[in-house]
Amino acid sequence: MYDRTYNFSAGPATMPVEVLEEIRDEMLNYRGSGMCVMEMSHRSKVFQEIYDNAEADLRKLMNIPDNYKVLFIQGGATLQFSMIPMNLMKNGVADYIVTGAWSKKAFTEAKKFGDVKCIASSEDRNYSYIPDLTDLPIRDNADYVYICENETIHGTTYQTLPDTKGKILVSDQSSMFLSKPCNVSDYGVIYGGVQKNIGPAGMAIVIIREDLIREDLDPKTPVYLRYDTHAGAGSMYNTPNCWAIYVCGKVFKYLLDRGGLEAMNERNVEKAKVLYDFLDSSKMFKGTVDKDVRSLMNVPFVTESKDLDAEVIAYTKKAGFDNLKGHKSVGGLRASIYNAMPKEGVVALVECLKKFEAERG
Ligand SMILES: *Cc1c(COP(=O)(O)O)cnc(C)c1O
Repeated sequence: MYDRTYNFSAGPATMPVEVLEEIRDEMLNYRGSGMCVMEMSHRSKVFQEIYDNAEADLRKLMNIPDNYKVLFIQGGATLQFSMIPMNLMKNGVADYIVTGAWSKKAFTEAKKFGDVKCIASSEDRNYSYIPDLTDLPIRDNADYVYICENETIHGTTYQTLPDTKGKILVSDQSSMFLSKPCNVSDYGVIYGGVQKNIGPAGMAIVIIREDLIREDLDPKTPVYLRYDTHAGAGSMYNTPNCWAIYVCGKVFKYLLDRGGLEAMNERNVEKAKVLYDFLDSSKMFKGTVDKDVRSLMNVPFVTESKDLDAEVIAYTKKAGFDNLKGHKSVGGLRASIYNAMPKEGVVALVECLKKFEAERG
């Protein structure tokens, strides 16, 4: 009806049509307020209600315990690469597990702030697996252990959480946020940029255990980069990303209406299976990561050559499938199949790839 393509972008990424339609309908006059949410004061009653509902619905979706704060912070996930060490390092020590481009970036940034060590890595095989997590050399004085739970570029995901030997676990969930149930109390901090699996770009959600929000930081820490600033001001120390909060709130409601995260997980497992089954049976295409750690959200795959990869990308694009080019560090193709990608989109993509293989094979 809208002539939309199936958009496999890793982020910003496809959103539920029903949510986009609701936003359209409320664009000029949000529920009798006489204005668009973009035009509203963040201090107004009507916006505060949008905010409160968004937070309440997220808490319901993820079953977030009362002793965790939910913060909406600008700067995307990348700003958290710095905020985490700045706020969580008491001893100045942190241990990182490096499983791909995003955890590597976070690790590199954290090193500026203290004694930061990579305690396990899968770099030796281009991040195509998750290292053994059972007996990690976690240091006694480590302030936290850091993971990126779903590597968006490399396409791996943790099947179990590492044994942190009692240390706080910090997880970047950007590309798997709300894709499946999550036991929040297993973590000290969960965070992610929202433009992968939730809403528009320009914001991160940080879910942090209250006792980890410290006031005794280096006094030079910029006020905006302190969790206590955001926690103490209901994420409105300054003007927040009102638009992202509004749209994310709609997505939270949409997910609740469709059975919550259990239901999402079932759909995501089923959807990813369509693509992985095809890759496993194809002679032309193959997945790039170990089967036991394949992501349900980001599926990188390759043919035998770069030239053929490029041909497939052009072929699929012509057929109405967009943003399938893989990240340059992996090459080939990547299909990001977040919550909002319908199963029909994946089925149709597989049909298209089969057709290509039949024509060329
Ligand atoms: C995209 C992404 C980031 C960076 O997000 P920004 O919001 O662009 O800063 C960090 N971590 C992961 C896992 C990502 O997928």
